[in-house]
Amino acid sequence: MIQLVRGFKDILSGEVEIWQQIEKTARSLFEDFGFKEMRPPILERAELFARSIGEDTDIVEKEMYTFYDKKKDPVTLRPEATASVVRSYIQHKLYAKDAIRKFYTIGPMFRRERPQKGRYRQFYQINAEVFGIDSPLIDAQLIFLLATLFSRLSVTDAKVHINSLGCSTCRPKFKEALSDFLLSAKEKLCSDCTRRSKRNPLRVLDCKVPLCREAIVGAPSVLDFLCSECGSHFEGVKKSLEKLKVPFLIDKRLVRGLDYYTRTTFEIQTGLLGAQNAIAGGGRYDNLVKALGGPDQPAVGFAIGIDRLAEITGLEIKDFLQYPDIFVAALGEKSQSIAFEWICALNLEGTRAEMDFAGKSLKSQMKRANKLGARYVLIVGEKELEEGSVIMRNMMTKEQILIPIDGIIEKVKEKL
Ligand code: AMP
Repeated sequence: MIQLVRGFKDILSGEVEIWQQIEKTARSLFEDFGFKEMRPPILERAELFARSIGEDTDIVEKEMYTFYDKKKDPVTLRPEATASVVRSYIQHKLYAKDAIRKFYTIGPMFRRERPQKGRYRQFYQINAEVFGIDSPLIDAQLIFLLATLFSRLSVTDAKVHINSLGCSTCRPKFKEALSDFLLSAKEKLCSDCTRRSKRNPLRVLDCKVPLCREAIVGAPSVLDFLCSECGSHFEGVKKSLEKLKVPFLIDKRLVRGLDYYTRTTFEIQTGLLGAQNAIAGGGRYDNLVKALGGPDQPAVGFAIGIDRLAEITGLEIKDFLQYPDIFVAALGEKSQSIAFEWICALNLEGTRAEMDFAGKSLKSQMKRANKLGARYVLIVGEKELEEGSVIMRNMMTKEQILIPIDGIIEKVKEKL
């Protein structure tokens, strides 16, 4: 038997209904907030991610599914969506008419991480990206949108963590101070962090190795290094969140795994998932559009992990499972052919109608109707055809009524 690739999974009925509800709720919220959907491809040139996410990141160093196509071009299964959306914004000059654009995307991402609960090699994200707005109000609005989505999906434990990473003016001073601190703690760091502590010391703050986490307890805080513009931007985010009544925590260690963030970063964390506690994360990336060859436009966005969200929503699967409205039990060839016409007509009218296609006995058709959870069964045989009416049985109350065959579709719909 051929099995799934490790770290990949099927999302089957019984779970997929929750996913659909998550996507439906997100789409409707995004449209209300003025976002338009974008569907970038899953495969991109490898350099897009190396240049945007950053060479020193776990994603680019270890986790990308990169391979050479027949023409020997290196291509990558996207590990995240922001880079693609930025590429698209630049490639199609989506800024030309109006630099302010808001996009959302929903789809799979690929990272070759070590699989465990809540961590998969193909996982799904809902992404939002806003281009062309500098104001901290939009950062707060994105966080507000996230909080609203989680509350609509009945997530009971979702805490907003925020931080600021400063900009190219103030971050170098923080990096230097952090690098000096890490040098003094170097015996305690893992080999990745030792290597990164000089070139990319912020990454060390993100390391999940317990000893590294311990080692950085006394590390300098980025918030003490913010320049006045970044400081007041961060104040603006905090004030707006307070106004919007979104509770938040300031988390000075929050840097996130991607290099392109500037100023605001945020993460939504939950205690319901064990080690993989992040359900969404995002932040500002004011330099990325320019760095990838586009205009100097600020940007801010987030990504929600659907796999994790699906595990912690308070939505109950029983509210979304769909059962047939009616099962047509037909006896004999002639009845079967008529039943087939009826179910197709009912399906067209938006009624979930099913039948048996194998010419089974009435008893086994009734069993199947029961198994499918059909609310009603229509029983039709030679006798019923002759007499011009069929039996409609309520499977809950067991009550049976006769329905005339003439105009049956309308009559059945009335009774449902
Ligand atoms: P990131 O793109 O790393 O900022 O991640 C954004 C969100 O995607 C996280 O908060 C998770 O909910 C989700 N996520 C990231 N990596 C994985 C993974 N390997 N498996 C499942 N969900 C993931």
